[in-house]
This record gives sequence, C-alpha cells and structure tokens, in this order.
Amino acid sequence: MVYKSIMTQDDLAFDRQHIWHPYTSMTRPLPVYPVASAHGCELQLASGERLVDGMSSWWAAIHGYNHPRLNAAMQAQIAKMSHVMFGGITHQPAVDLCRRLVAMTPSALECVFLADTGSVAVEVAMKMALQYWHAKGEARRRFLTFRNGYHGDTFGAMSVCDPDNSMHSLWKGYLPENLFAPAPQSRFDGEWDEADMVSFARLMAAHRHEIAAVILEPVIQGAGGMRFYHPEWLKRLRKMCDREGILLIADEIATGFGRTGKLFACEHAGIAPDILCLGKALTGGTLTLSATLTTRQVAETISDGEAGCFMHGPTFMGNPLACAVANESLAILESGEWQSQVAAIEAQLKAELAAAAASEFVADVRVLGATGVVETSLPVNMAALQRFFVERGVWVRPFGRLIYLMPPYIIDSAQLTRLTRAVTEAVNIPEHFVS
Ligand SMILES: *Cc1c(COP(=O)(O)O)cnc(C)c1O
Repeated sequence: MVYKSIMTQDDLAFDRQHIWHPYTSMTRPLPVYPVASAHGCELQLASGERLVDGMSSWWAAIHGYNHPRLNAAMQAQIAKMSHVMFGGITHQPAVDLCRRLVAMTPSALECVFLADTGSVAVEVAMKMALQYWHAKGEARRRFLTFRNGYHGDTFGAMSVCDPDNSMHSLWKGYLPENLFAPAPQSRFDGEWDEADMVSFARLMAAHRHEIAAVILEPVIQGAGGMRFYHPEWLKRLRKMCDREGILLIADEIATGFGRTGKLFACEHAGIAPDILCLGKALTGGTLTLSATLTTRQVAETISDGEAGCFMHGPTFMGNPLACAVANESLAILESGEWQSQVAAIEAQLKAELAAAAASEFVADVRVLGATGVVETSLPVNMAALQRFFVERGVWVRPFGRLIYLMPPYIIDSAQLTRLTRAVTEAVNIPEHFVS
C-alpha cells in the first residue's frame, strides 16, 4: 500500500482516541504533529513546513535522516533477508557488527549480546551481573546507583531509575529495592569535590556483600535530569568496585558513539566497565537494536554456572537488517569526521546558549559535546512551548524543567543558530512556564 502524504483531521482524531504516545494520557492528550518525511537535519510536517531537528529523535539520528549510505545498506540487506532467527544460526551482518563493537570498545570487553532495545540491553546487563554472582555462589542481588539516573522503562531497568522520577511508590512491592546514592554534585566542568563521594562510599561499605553491580550513566545523566558530572567520579568508582570485586555497568545507551565528544563517555576518565550497554545511535537512528558487552571472565563464569548458559534470547535477537545498518553507521563514524562536527557544535552551543542565562526563568545553562541544556526555574508548559518551537521552524521537545538540544552531528551552523535562537527567545516568554 502507498501511504498518503497528507494526514486528515480524521487521522488525527483517531490518533487522539486510540494511540498512546510516550508518557501520555488518554484523557488529556497533548497535540501531536504529523511528520511526513525527514531529510538531513529537517523533519517535514504533513502540512509541508520544515523543522530543523534539535533532538536526533532522542540521541539516535546522529548522521541525520534519510542518509544515502544508511538507506543503501538497508536496501542491500532487505534483498538478502530482513530477519532470521539467531538460535542455531549466524550471519555476516551480526559477525561484522560484533567484530566492530569489540574493536571500538575497551579491549577487555570481548563478548557481545545483541538485543532489541536499550531497556532490554539494561535488563541483560543486570541479569548478567546476577547470574555471575549466582555462579560464584554469592547471594549478591542488589544494584547500587545514583539518584537522577535513567536506564529504561522495563521493570529491572526501572528499579535503577531515579525513584521519584520513575515513581517507585507506584510499583512498591513489585519492584526490586535497590540502593540509591545522591546524584553527583561535582560538575563536569567544575572542581572535583572529595565530599561528593562520602554517601556513595558509605552505602557501598554498608552493603558490600549484597551488591552485584554498580550501574550508572557515565558523565551525562540523561532523561533523569540532563546532568553532567565530573569524570573523576568514574575513576573513583572503578577503584572502589575493583577493591570489593563489585561489577561496574556503564549504560552508554545515550552517551555512546560520540555524543559527549569522546566515542564513549567512559573515555573522559580512561576507565573500562565490566559490562557496557549500547543502543540509541547504534543504527544511526534507523532501526531498533542494542548491545550488551562484557568481559570473557564474566561471560565464562556465567556459562559455567548452574544454568549452563546465559538465560536470555529475544525473538528478534541479532536482526540482520538492524545489524547491517548499524555496520554502516559505525563505518561512517570510523571516518572520524564526527570529532570535528561534535567539537564545532559544542563551541557554537556554548557561544549561543549563553544568552539564555540572562532570563529570570533560567536556572542553569550547560553544554557538553553535542548536547546543550537550558534548565529552567519553573516547569515548562509543554504544549505552549512545543507550539512556539514549531512556529519558529524547529523541533525541540522539552520536559519538566529542561529544554535541551542534541542535534544530528551533520547540522550546519545556520541550522544550529535557528535552534539556539528559538531556545533563547522561548525562555523569556512567561506563558511558557507553569507557575
Ligand atoms: C533511552 C535510554 C535507555 C532505554 O532505551 P530504550 O531503547 O528506550 O529502551 C536506557 N538507558 C539510557 C541511558 C537511555 O538514555
């Protein structure tokens, strides 16, 4: 069937009545904007208007939309096979992808599990840690993490998300109760404060024989607050985990593939985790795919345990189409151009978002790599702000007290100025805030 390009009022009414969007209400739905196509750094609405994309579809579309090389990789793979089960079967796209992932990540990470979403990559990481300790005959069944984290929406992942943001009260009695240290206070670009570690160290000491793993988002806490913290944290945590034999899980689903200015955010501290979660930009924002990497020692310990195998295997594991396009996305990154692109975006975001700080509604402005954040002093009126941005020809999706930009790496400076100008204007309009 050929999709019609203009969505009708009837289509939008159906959407309102029948379709859930992320974190939305069926009784008080917010407006949604029909997008007909996307090219480069622009989304084209069904009405014909073009919006400069400031979101990369949630950290994913790093090379922009409709990229000819990504499209060609998918088309070539479709002609061979879109999918085949991974149980008892292997294929070139998966082998090529895993070879690349093993080569580009820290050398100790040798064994790869391919899954379908970021949340499942986190479930897999947590399951690996639990199976590891079970195999070693130790009853370690808790995870230690920071407040303000975000690791996904499935139950295991939710159990290590910020307890307030992800409403742990709602799931009480059902959700495993993990350990939460205060969010890091030492800022990425600020002084390292030794006192920052006290609560974390105390929690780890008090529960040292119960903790299976520490799980964290390195350097940038994403959806839990868009907070950028000091890399010294990672060095200290690596040492503390080594001392106690506790595993360290780095969730680089948002930070991976260049977004922070390094290929992986752990590189800011020169550390390697025991388990690494990847997703989002893995396929350049085209298809859903994630990966969890671990060391041979963890993988072999799990495999020699009671179960005799790692107990996970999604239906669409190693999907060839997704692996093929991920290979092409990584090949584009291998050219190294992302480094100058991300550096240029960082410099421009710093220069142009600074003006936002003058607004009485702005609490903080911060930039790291290709991510710029304006934290407001009041919660934003999402519907009003979204409408304003669309009228200004940009796609920016704020939440809570956060207006943030994380454009595709290929954005040009005029497009980026359009985004930053819309943000700096938006924060001076009182109707954009809920008091
Ligand atoms: C988005 C995200 C996830 C979850 O990924 P999904 O693909 O949405 O399931 C997990 N961890 C981090 C850090 C993320 O940003």
